[in-house]
Amino acid sequence: MEKKLRIDNLAGMKAFAAQIAHIVEGTGAVLALEGDLGAGKTTFTQYFAAALGVRRPVTSPTFTLVCEYPLPRGGRLVHMDLYRLASSADLDATGYYEYLQSGDIVCIEWPDRAGDELPADAVRIALSIPAGAPDARDIAVVWSDPSLRFDTLAPSP
Ligand code: ADP
Ligand code: MG
Repeated sequence: MEKKLRIDNLAGMKAFAAQIAHIVEGTGAVLALEGDLGAGKTTFTQYFAAALGVRRPVTSPTFTLVCEYPLPRGGRLVHMDLYRLASSADLDATGYYEYLQSGDIVCIEWPDRAGDELPADAVRIALSIPAGAPDARDIAVVWSDPSLRFDTLAPSP
């Protein structure tokens, strides 16, 4: 299934991330965040984490590849940035497979680096900047689990 929407600015991204948090909270959803440098993958994760109740600052784990945040309502948010992953053969050393099995929510920036190791049921969230609208974002959400109700996503106010 696929849902496309456009948000106008950071407030729209915040509202979008909060809606996603509401839909996936308590699930072991894996969010594959796609988009070029500056598309907003980290910004999304920061708003998403805040909506899940994370109070610690969320920074992109560029060098450590992975960072985990305990969630006040249970479980963890795992944030991965695979940009510097040399090869999908190195995923094991990051704890990748354990994180996927853990039942925790996982956000992955640069998921293409994981190649075939990305779970088939990962939720793809693709972000892009529309021409001439630097603060807007086109968003496509692609998912396969019908119990995840991304079809209810509403355009930002
Ligand atoms: P990425 O992790 O994809 O490389 P970042 O989240 O680090 O991207 O950077 C996105 C940049 O774009 C930030 O400086 C952010 O403030 C800015 N920005 C402007 N408008 C938006 C928006 N609507 N959504 C997300 N980021 C936005
Ligand atoms: Mg980033």
